[in-house]
Order: sequence, then structure tokens, then C-alpha cells
Amino acid sequence: MCGIVGYVGNNDAYPILINGLKRLEYRGYDSAGVALVGDGCTLNVYKTKGKVADLEAHASGKPLGGSTGIAHTRWATHGEPNEANAHPHVSQSGNIAIVHNGIIENYATLRSQLSAKGYQFKSSTDTEVLAQLIDYFNTALDLPLLQAVQAALRRVIGAYAIAVVDSRAPRRIIAARKSSPLVVGIGNEGDFYLASDASPIIEYTDRMVYLNDGEIAILPAGGEMEIVNLDNKPVELNVTRVEMNISQLEKGGFPHFMLKEIFEQPDCLNDCMRGRVNAQGQPLALSSLRFHSKRMLNASRYIIVACGTSWHAGLIGKQLLENFAQVPTSIEYASEFRYRNPVINPSDVVIAISQSGETADTLAAVELAREKGAFIYGICNSVGSSIPRNTDTGCYIHVGPEIGVASTKAFTGQVTVLAMLALSLGMARGTLSHDEARQAVSQLTRIPGIIKETLERINPQVEQLAKMLTYARNVIYLGRGYNYPVALEGALKLKEISYIHAEGYPAAEMKHGPIALVDEDMPVVVIATRNAMYDKVRSNVQEIKARRGRVIAITTQGDTAMGDLADECIALPEVPEYLEPLITTIPLQLLAYHVAVCKGKDVDHPRNLAKSVTVE
Ligand code: GLU
Repeated sequence: MCGIVGYVGNNDAYPILINGLKRLEYRGYDSAGVALVGDGCTLNVYKTKGKVADLEAHASGKPLGGSTGIAHTRWATHGEPNEANAHPHVSQSGNIAIVHNGIIENYATLRSQLSAKGYQFKSSTDTEVLAQLIDYFNTALDLPLLQAVQAALRRVIGAYAIAVVDSRAPRRIIAARKSSPLVVGIGNEGDFYLASDASPIIEYTDRMVYLNDGEIAILPAGGEMEIVNLDNKPVELNVTRVEMNISQLEKGGFPHFMLKEIFEQPDCLNDCMRGRVNAQGQPLALSSLRFHSKRMLNASRYIIVACGTSWHAGLIGKQLLENFAQVPTSIEYASEFRYRNPVINPSDVVIAISQSGETADTLAAVELAREKGAFIYGICNSVGSSIPRNTDTGCYIHVGPEIGVASTKAFTGQVTVLAMLALSLGMARGTLSHDEARQAVSQLTRIPGIIKETLERINPQVEQLAKMLTYARNVIYLGRGYNYPVALEGALKLKEISYIHAEGYPAAEMKHGPIALVDEDMPVVVIATRNAMYDKVRSNVQEIKARRGRVIAITTQGDTAMGDLADECIALPEVPEYLEPLITTIPLQLLAYHVAVCKGKDVDHPRNLAKSVTVE
């Protein structure tokens, strides 16, 4: 899940690499490192435990020249986060340095084979094995570097995006990918940029080449980029123009990316719906359905596969699809689905949801579904990422880059797309009239304005309330129907960034166990809006109050009855029940954020987590 950056060209590599690493820190921040190759065949490697800022401090005052370089920010999979295990790893001959994102599954076998040939290892990573294997083919078997990389990669089982430099060929980078993302930016004067996603590159060029699995890019400064496969067959370059606003990558005056992204949601959801609602004389027009309507409409079943927050969005999607399109829908953790032997038929449609489009388990679930003949629909944010490229069709959520590790705007974007999808399918299948759809769409288009008003109104209240939760050791979140997944998501947010243990439950399940935990020290957050389940949820709140639990209720404006019962109420405007998750999730995002800030936690870089889970 690490982040890779590379540069080869006419400028100093170091500042470009450091700035790039800062953009990719969301992918991991256990350690950071850089390898710089100078024209005089020098190879300087600096690496340290910690963040990019620590690397800068460590490298300060040392020789930083060189217009070729590779850099890495790590999320450890093999070997603890320390300096020895930090990338880049330098091979035994001292000529080759490599950065890697992914896992070399057969590293133990390769390591013992190389040890038998006299190779000594300085780290406990899988990556160093790859560095030494390339070195072995290059030095011991005398293959040129490209052939040595190809030979090594043919022996490797696992996932990788790698960048390799050789001090004897200082004006070139060789890069390759399988299952982990890698994109090349083509600069103006024979400059090449390389990164795990487009964000470190976009300020230099919008001309990008996304590498596919099994491809190796050769990037010679001042020359032409080439791509070959592992058998050295040339592959055609597919240059795409990537549009990304650089201000989207900065904090824009907010103290953290997470808060910025929470407040961006009104604009993001408008972007998500733009051109899709009230377009072409229709209430809804999703291009993904226009070209694939038969397959989508005639599906005997939808199977949603996702992980984490996307899985919570999928739970809401299941209810929306069954409600409006009347198609049986199941929801699966991608990590479980891929390792059992699920029944998948060619008439099934598998809907894969992933913010990054790189989630390894979801990608593997997509591959499994494809093998079994299902039609695959993707819901992703990162344009051009692996999942969209491996699906039959899909719908981008278009909420812009999400940098905060705790997902916020991607969740509401995913729910918005799922609502548009369910309404479109309902209309097309005749389970929803055009009039009903038109009304639903007009409600959906109100949502960004409601979120905007809500954010401004409740943020100071939630900030105060958060102080009360700072000392809690456990928090329960309850919701029913469409708000049950919101309870799960609220609990996940709190866990992720404040490290307080939290659990989400369907409110009625409380009495089947968790109620035993309730006492005066246990805050319970209840989503108790005025909808069809209101009376039932009110009874659940009574049950908690009878056991002296402290209730924070998310209510509908004007509901005084809940105000009398709960200890604290956060009141929200009324919206149709099926759209409530888009509103009820807002106070829970803010609550998690403010509790984490009160506790002095590193909100944008929670411990042990990384943004884009490109390992299993
Ligand atoms: N397996 C490598 C390491 O532990 C790379 C980790 C990753 O990409 O997440 O250093």
C-alpha cells in the first residue's frame, strides 16, 4: 500500500520526489526514503523511519544532487517499520536501487535460494529479495538491466509496482507493475514522472500513461518512453489526458484534509450528479446503463462486493436496489467472497465498490466474478484505476481526490451513485413510475444544499459535544433500516481516527446482547429520525435510558419528544427515508473528527491505517 514516486529528466530530482511523496503519504507513512542518481554514476540513498518530513530532516545537509531518482513512503507488510526495512533497497553489488508497492508472496523461497548463492540481506522485507534477484541476473548472469528485471519478475509470485534505477545508467528508470498501480507522466523536454497515482505528477503534466499488469516501462531522460511486456514484446502506448485541479490536493484553509473533505460534500455531490440528473429530458441518465441496459435490467441478481466504508455504502445500496428495482441483491465482503466458492451465474451482475479503484480484495473478487461469467459494474472514484479498467461498465463518483485516510465524501458519493443507479433501474424495469422517479430525483438534488446548511449549523454543536466523548472507552451506535449501515459507518469513523472502541448495531438487536454493556459510562449514539421506524427506535432509546445510558440522538428538526428523552439531540432537516443516510452520516463524521482532534490524534494519518488498501 506504499506510495512510489520517480523522476528522470533535466531538473533536480530531489524536490520533485519529496513533494510527490507528500501527496502520497495517505498511502502509508511508516518510513520514507529516496535514491538519487547523479550524472557521475553516484547513487545516494537516504531513508528513515517516520514521515516524509522526517526524511527531509534526515537528508538535510547531505549531497542531494542528481536528476534521476526514485522515492517511497511505506506501509509495512513484511518487516517492522524501521530504517533497515525502509525503501529504496540497494542490491548487493551496490549498483541497483528499487522501490516497491505490493507483496512478493514467494519471497521466502527466493531469499533462501539467493542466500545459497552468497547474497546477504540487510532487511526483513520481501522487496529486498526482488532487488537481489534483479542483481543476480544482472551481475552474476550478466544480463542487461531490462532483461534482468524481466527475468526476475517472471520468477516472482505476488503483486508489485516497482521502480528501478542503476547507478551505471544514470539517465534512466525502469518501472513495472502487476496488481499494484503505477502511472507515468510524460513531461515536456524528455522528462518523465512516475507515481502510484496521478496526484504527484499533475502539476508537471497532464499526459499520463497508466501501466497495465505485466507491463514494463523504460523511461530514458531526453528520449522516448517505451513499454514492453515480460517477454520483451513491445506494447502500444496509450496516453490519456488527466484532469485534476491542484487546489483539490491542498487543505484549502482547513486544519485537516478530513474536515476539508467533510465540508466539500455539497460541491462533491453536485459534481457527482452533474449531467446525470434531469439530463436529456429524463429524470436520470446514467451512460453506463444506456450502453449496457439489457445486461443490467435482466440481471437475476445483483451481488455487491466491497470492503470497509464502501461495504457500508453497499449495504445501503442493497436496500435501494431491492426497494426501487426489485432485484434480489446480496452484499459481500470482497475479502471473504474471493476465498470461498460463491455461486455466481452468468445472469448475475456484480457491483464492485472502491474509492481508490485499487482495493486488492475487491479487484480479486471482480476477477473471480469475471471468470464465472458475471457482468461487472464498478463504482469508483479514481479515474483510470485498476477496478474501472477491469469492469464491463460503471459509474465514477467524481468527488475529487480523497486524501484523508478516513473516508467521508467518497461514502456519500457512493451512496449518491447507488441511489441514482437504483432509481434508473427501477424506472427502466417499470418498478418505479417516471413521476415517482422525477420526485425522487428532485429530492436527491436538494441534498447538497441540505448538507451545506446542516454542516454550518451543527458543526459548533458537535465540536462541543465531542468533548464529552473524549474520555469514553466504548461507544455504541444504533440505527435501523437505511440508517443501520450509517450506525456501522459512524462507529468505524470513531474507531479509525480516535482509537475509541465503537460498535454499530441495528437498534432492535440491542436487547439480544449489547444492552448488557449499557451503564452511565456508556454513550450510545442513536439515529432516531422521524421515519417509518421512528416509534420502534424511540422504544429502543427508552430501554437504554432505563439502564442509565447516555443517549446522543440524531433527530428530525421539530421533534420535541426525542428531545425530552435523549441527553443530547442533533436535529437534521427531514428528507425521504431512502436518502437519510446522506444526511445522518454528516453529524457522525463531524463527531469522529472532533473527538479525534480533542484527543490530539493525527486525524489525517491514523496509526496502522493507509488510504488505499492495495494488499490483501
Ligand atoms: N512489501 C513491501 C514492504 O513491506 C511493500 C509494502 C506495500 O506496498 O504495502 O516493504
